[in-house]
Amino acid sequence: MGRRAQRKRSAAASDAIAARRSARDRERLARLAEGGTPERPITIESASQVEVVAESMRCPLCDGGLRVLAHEAQVVDGARRRAARVVCRACGSTRAIWFALAGVSLH
Ligand SMILES: [Zn+2]
Repeated sequence: MGRRAQRKRSAAASDAIAARRSARDRERLARLAEGGTPERPITIESASQVEVVAESMRCPLCDGGLRVLAHEAQVVDGARRRAARVVCRACGSTRAIWFALAGVSLH
């Protein structure tokens, strides 16, 4: 019984490590995707689309639905951006989704 319990524990521990590693990979991929950083914004026609588009996206960690907590106008390195602060309804992870308004000059 002793050995079996030990093996079970270590299998659970390595599962937890694998889950953490995969969450980190998904997080990295999400940052490379459109909207993941201010440098790779999603282009929209009007600021009113920020909430709509952000809430239509899925959590990159668990594919859950997102809820917009805040919508901010920001200037990042001289470029005007909109950021939607979102939280996953399923796993509770938070992130920012970045937008640029079409037709707004970057210069
Ligand atoms: Zn999630």
